[in-house]
Amino acid sequence: MRLFPDAMSPSAYDIDYGYLYDRGYRGIIFDIDNTLVEHNEPATEKACLLVRKLQDTGYRVSVVSNNREPRVKKFADAVGCDYVYKAGKPGSGGYRKAMEIMGTGMKDTFAVGDQLFTDIWGASNTGIRSVMVHRIASHEEIQIHLKRIPETLIKGIYILLYGKRGERELL
Ligand SMILES: [Mg+2]
Repeated sequence: MRLFPDAMSPSAYDIDYGYLYDRGYRGIIFDIDNTLVEHNEPATEKACLLVRKLQDTGYRVSVVSNNREPRVKKFADAVGCDYVYKAGKPGSGGYRKAMEIMGTGMKDTFAVGDQLFTDIWGASNTGIRSVMVHRIASHEEIQIHLKRIPETLIKGIYILLYGKRGERELL
């Protein structure tokens, strides 16, 4: 089903990226808000270290966000990765643009995000794999909060069908 992630992880910081690199993945597309940092928070040391570690491994990294340019560019510049702002997720345009910038393709790129109806659905629409992570913070805008209700339901169905499938089953 297009709304389902390919895998789930407690956090973007818990994914075994080394394993996925060995399996052939070369590009990672991250959502920012509630995936790498709390909503609208600046880049943290933790986020910077993760991106640097991934780049040292050999990955190309990009953030793809529906947020506006000042927010997205500032974050991307701080962590040192590529970016696409006003990405229009769940549309595929932003993801495709990021892959173009990174020089990676549908087979060797995966997305990491906290929202089913933007990040995960968008990855599916693009034809790339996705890892859904738990949101970092609980204070959110009301429209995001409302989407969490059907999201929790679909997540529940997913876990019933597939169990807690981790990133090692991404391929
Ligand atoms: Mg998010």
